[in-house]
Amino acid sequence: MAEIVVIGAGIGGSAAALLLARDGHSVTVLERDGGPLARSVDEAWSSWNRRAVSQFRLAHILLPRGGSILSDELPDVAARLELAGGLHLDPIDGFLRQSGTPRRHREPDDDRFTMLTGRRSTIEWVLAVTLEIGPSISVRRGVAVDSLIAGSRAAPGTPHVAGVRLDSGEEIAADLVVDATGRNSPTVRWLSALGAIAPHEVVEDSGFAYYCRFFASADGTVPELRAPILTPFGSMSVLTIPSDNGTWAIMLYASSTDKLLRRFRQPEVFESVVRQCPLHAHWLDGEPISEMASMVGVSDRKRTFLVDDQPVVTGMLSIGDAAACSNPSLGRGMSFALMHTVLLRDMVRKHLDDPVELAREFGRQTELEIGPWYDETRRIDRSRIEEMRAIADGREVEDTPQRRMAAAFDAAANSDLTVFRARSEIMCCLTRADEVLSRDGLLEHAIEVAGTAVDPPPGPDRARLGELVS
Ligand SMILES: Cc1cc2nc3c(=O)[nH]c(=O)nc-3n(C[C@H](O)[C@H](O)[C@H](O)COP(=O)(O)OP(=O)(O)OC[C@H]3O[C@@H](n4cnc5c(N)ncnc54)[C@H](O)[C@@H]3O)c2cc1C
Repeated sequence: MAEIVVIGAGIGGSAAALLLARDGHSVTVLERDGGPLARSVDEAWSSWNRRAVSQFRLAHILLPRGGSILSDELPDVAARLELAGGLHLDPIDGFLRQSGTPRRHREPDDDRFTMLTGRRSTIEWVLAVTLEIGPSISVRRGVAVDSLIAGSRAAPGTPHVAGVRLDSGEEIAADLVVDATGRNSPTVRWLSALGAIAPHEVVEDSGFAYYCRFFASADGTVPELRAPILTPFGSMSVLTIPSDNGTWAIMLYASSTDKLLRRFRQPEVFESVVRQCPLHAHWLDGEPISEMASMVGVSDRKRTFLVDDQPVVTGMLSIGDAAACSNPSLGRGMSFALMHTVLLRDMVRKHLDDPVELAREFGRQTELEIGPWYDETRRIDRSRIEEMRAIADGREVEDTPQRRMAAAFDAAANSDLTVFRARSEIMCCLTRADEVLSRDGLLEHAIEVAGTAVDPPPGPDRARLGELVS
């Protein structure tokens, strides 16, 4: 069994450490953020030092894809999340209630859409608590990895990582290093210092700006979903994200170039905009438990560690946001990190003794299993940001067959259970859009329903938004 160092105790690093330790490896987790572990869910939210993760106190939802990985692979973590006040959210029940559809239309496998979710601070805290009690795991918080240590090469011309050097100068040897350093990951710089060929990296600003505030109820309940969790309104979108222990987040997002909508960061503007959305306004009926927070400059970035099918490095594997991070509006990042973690564990099971094969197979499988999800997320985001920008600039939104089909699909999903289920598969990160949309007769059915569909959720158009923010 191996000595494994995991860099980063975020979502991916914590889950990877647990899975690898449960396979019998000895795991050391190194986390830059220091200070004691929060003692409770409330403390995790209010005062746990997670300065290195800038989105830590912004809206997060754990989609069913990520949730099912927790319950299948780390059931004790899922149980702890439930005990900590995690929220079960059942979108099908919500749809039946809103549309007045009788419950007999619920199907047994509709349970796959039910999510166990919570604030990011709560999800990460239950992972951190599990790490603390996990056998074969040592967690060191407040230590930052500064560089990688080179070992004897496993393949000519390819550097091999044999451990890490902390910023204190301390060196820690490892048979395998897992890089789970997140969005701000220094991996490329570290590899360059090691003399590695640069991984192929594509980075672009996603173009979105986020404005978010958290609320809590006095009685521990969360507001009823009367519209989809993610509702587009022309040049802005509204996310209403129910969370643990009677808390929830409202997030508005728009193009970061839309100067007018930057005023969303003012609490009174934010509130007046949400009040103008009749199916969302009741989400304001709680006690604010955070200040207004905003975030811009969120990048889409994908790294490929195989160049011409050869690994650029052996002895280190990158997972989660350190490998690929996408704009968060579809709420997929934690699920991707968990999917990647399971893949890592499986590849380590198969190829631990052969560092070259391990790096190569992990790279190939990442491209096959995670790559298409990342590409789809990016495609959906590109389409939405173009639409937002066109509306903000007063231009016609380009009328393409794909856009028309997507609009029909979304409209039909508001009133038709078959289309709602199909759309939920995509939104819950269970099945990719291309697979769902290629199903026999589904689009034709959606287009037919869309012709008679109920109106989309009501909200302010661009002109009204202009009045509200001024
Ligand atoms: C605004 C916003 C909203 C989001 N909303 C959602 C959502 O609703 N649903 C969802 O699933 N995802 C969401 N995400 C994405 C999600 O936050 C990430 O995908 C997820 O955290 C990735 O996990 P990770 O382990 O790869 O990285 P992180 O969780 O970011 O962890 C990286 C860790 O590495 C540590 N680290 C970095 N460098 C070093 C070093 N040199 N030495 C030691 N430690 C180091 C950091 O301190 C950090 O703890 C959102 C992201 C943003 C930006």
